[in-house]
Amino acid sequence: MAEFVNSLAAAQALDAADPLKSYRDRFYIPTFHEKAVRYFTGNSLGLQPKSVQTYVQQELDDWAKWGVEGHFHGKNPWFSYHEFLTEKVARVVGALPKEVVVTHSLTTNLHLLMVSFYRPVGTRTKILCEAKAFPSDLYALESQVRFHGLNPDVDLVALAPRDGEHLLREEDVLAKIAELGDTLALVMIGGVNYYTGQLMDMPAITKAGHAVGAIVGFDLAHAAGNIHLKLHEWDVDFAAWCSYKYLNSGPGGVSGMYVHERFANRPDLPRFAGWWGYDKATRFQMEPGFKPMEGAEGWQLSNAPVLSMAAHWASLEIYDEVGMERLNEKTVLLTGYLEFILDELTAKYQDQCRFEIITPREKTRRGAQLSILVHGKGKALFDALSANGVVADWREPNVIRVAPVPLYNSFEDVYYLGKFMEEAILG
Ligand SMILES: *Cc1c(COP(=O)(O)O)cnc(C)c1O
Repeated sequence: MAEFVNSLAAAQALDAADPLKSYRDRFYIPTFHEKAVRYFTGNSLGLQPKSVQTYVQQELDDWAKWGVEGHFHGKNPWFSYHEFLTEKVARVVGALPKEVVVTHSLTTNLHLLMVSFYRPVGTRTKILCEAKAFPSDLYALESQVRFHGLNPDVDLVALAPRDGEHLLREEDVLAKIAELGDTLALVMIGGVNYYTGQLMDMPAITKAGHAVGAIVGFDLAHAAGNIHLKLHEWDVDFAAWCSYKYLNSGPGGVSGMYVHERFANRPDLPRFAGWWGYDKATRFQMEPGFKPMEGAEGWQLSNAPVLSMAAHWASLEIYDEVGMERLNEKTVLLTGYLEFILDELTAKYQDQCRFEIITPREKTRRGAQLSILVHGKGKALFDALSANGVVADWREPNVIRVAPVPLYNSFEDVYYLGKFMEEAILG
């Protein structure tokens, strides 16, 4: 562990030694403030890679030049456009190419996957989720339970942290899975909790779920592009994520889904079907009767949203260059530096303001986010940060979420965040 120092010179020295430092220049850093923006909300909307324009322009040009013929004659034919992204996204989430596809939006994909993988039968009817899941996920889960004529109050089991605690204990998750036993149909939780930044032990949860005969799926909205995932190796059944948070692919950007290869050739699995999931070789014969593509592609409904995918492609190229391993090394250091500065401020100003980091302290249980419970100053402190050009996220009653993103945030950004916090405490 590096010996950190809270000074501009120390932060700049860390930046100078950072093997990924050149990547910051590959992104547009917002300039809407008079002062330089210190952007810490890449967990909500990642910044734009400068290369996106070229990728999108290519498709606009082919659309102008070819019209409908662009499906087959464009430089990157739209008919199979999603295939250009498959191997890249597979590397980001640690999957086999046939296990992933880029398509639709996140909540849509969660529903489509649950249609196939939440199959309540007999007394095996329950879904285990987090009490503090992202609201969209809770709505999706409740509606899936109701869709099967069941009652969410009974069949949706929401696990909360123990009284007075902020994080779910792994042992409680595993114990609950064992307790639900053969009444458990599905475990469906976030790989990284959006609110606390807690990284769940996905391999252990998957193993425990499988041990009682349940299916295990993860929402990876806050994990994809953030955590070094190994979905295939961990034996996860299914997952979905969005591309616009850590994956920097633009507002409302296209989602990704993963289905373990053991389901690759299961045309018998119930699914909501559409033409883009139909066997590609005979798709345009437009025969009645659905014949799914092998693997995750068989869950596609619609032809690819090419403009949104072009942005995603640009971003995935950067991920390919950097690799999740190197990204993770910087995450550990950069998040660690932020943690160090917050702890130092807390030690120094105990009586005025205290930063309680609710994100796990262990590097293996978090990624590029710290959620800070602010005791003493609260919203006023957050507003002072905003006035200084810091873009972070405020959650009632008093939590600030800060995402130091390794691709474009610098140690200097983190230093200034600390400096503005100190000024706000004193001011
Ligand atoms: C961001 C996020 C969503 C958003 O869903 P969309 O369908 O992309 O609007 C859903 N779930 C989680 C856990 C998220 O973090």
